[in-house]
Amino acid sequence: MRESLPLAEARRHVLGRTPALAAETVAAREALGRVLAESIDSDRTLPPVDVSAMDGYAVRREDCAGASIDRPVILELAGEIAAGGQPPATSLSPGAATRIFTGAPVPPGADAVVRQEDTRADGGRVEIHVAPEMREHVRDAGEDIRAGDRVLEAGCVVGPPELGLLASLGRSVVAVHRRPRVAILSGGDELVEPDRPADRGQIVSSNSYALAGQCLEAGAEPIYLGIARDDPGDLRTRLRAGLHADCLVSSAGVSVGDHDHVRSVLADLGCELEIFGVRIKPGFPMAFGRLRGRELPLIFGLPGNPVSAMVTFEQFVRPALRRMQGHRVLTRPVVRARVGEKLQKTAGRAHLVRVRLEYRNGEYQATPTGNQSSGVLRSMSAADGLLLFPEEATEIKAGAFADVEVLDLDVLARAPSAGGSPE
Ligand code: AMP
Ligand code: MG
Repeated sequence: MRESLPLAEARRHVLGRTPALAAETVAAREALGRVLAESIDSDRTLPPVDVSAMDGYAVRREDCAGASIDRPVILELAGEIAAGGQPPATSLSPGAATRIFTGAPVPPGADAVVRQEDTRADGGRVEIHVAPEMREHVRDAGEDIRAGDRVLEAGCVVGPPELGLLASLGRSVVAVHRRPRVAILSGGDELVEPDRPADRGQIVSSNSYALAGQCLEAGAEPIYLGIARDDPGDLRTRLRAGLHADCLVSSAGVSVGDHDHVRSVLADLGCELEIFGVRIKPGFPMAFGRLRGRELPLIFGLPGNPVSAMVTFEQFVRPALRRMQGHRVLTRPVVRARVGEKLQKTAGRAHLVRVRLEYRNGEYQATPTGNQSSGVLRSMSAADGLLLFPEEATEIKAGAFADVEVLDLDVLARAPSAGGSPE
């Protein structure tokens, strides 16, 4: 077991032992946010033929040379093609134009489309008021996709455009990495469920809610294992149930107190602890392990304090859950931010300071959200990010810069350069 590791090393250890989960086939319309487990090649060309980009007239460009509103060219009307219609078998004759609509196939022989606005219909003829460019308003066959193209790579995250591409290629089902199932257990004799009256000395188990929310936000499926008493027997039964999941997250009872049984019960169940203690605050007493000889589940014993539990989830569990789903970007975006007030600490642990971020005068400004006690969940709620106060540093001067992991991406919308919010 490795004890008291620096943050980066502990995270490397965990991620180095986290596999991507197997593929499953899902309906493409359910695939938003998932990561492709297959590459997608096209069996078709899109658009399949040259189509019109405008409502207007398909013409032969040479017939329209020199046309203007004052000296229109007059062409004979030769048929009409609507979107979804078939192109005529014969070539457009010299001196003729075909009425055409957006998305309709351009007839053979035509090499441009003149917009309706640049024409005037006149019975069986049409006046052309402009000389079109070569292939003007014609969408070339294959301008989007050609048969045989690799359209999407395995590992790509499916967003709305990718859903559209899958649909265009006729893919109604697609292989994506499975979502991890995460068993969540809270532990402590003082804990009660939120819908039960809490006597003096009891506290509501908020971790189960916050951690389940973090799971969902990370794309995983939480499974609630309830509250275990500070009793090895009860803990054992519940932890064992969690070993069927891909990841087991237990909070509290992991430290060294007389009532902290999580580590010993996990050991009884065959779990080999690989890490105990990470040099961060909040979140020092964090444990990580796996069952002997088994790749999964990943087993995390998080500290019990609400902020410590959330911060260690953020640093270790979230990146692991993303790796399981095949994501390549595992951590949050980091911005450099100017720190508004002097920060001090002793060396030996990195501090993850809850801060609010604002974009002012061309830079981000970070301001601590108040009481940084690991029990103060409100300062987590008020935070836009976690400022990294490095392990060996003892001071960040007011006005100096520090790295901030951005938890709330909406903060970027507060930057004037991003356009701000619409009125
Ligand atoms: P422990 O790790 O068991 O010493 O717990 C540390 C602190 O976190 C104690 O004050 C607990 O009451 C609190 N705590 C533990 N589990 C939870 C939970 N599920 N929800 C809210 N607070 C908790
Ligand atoms: Mg406890």
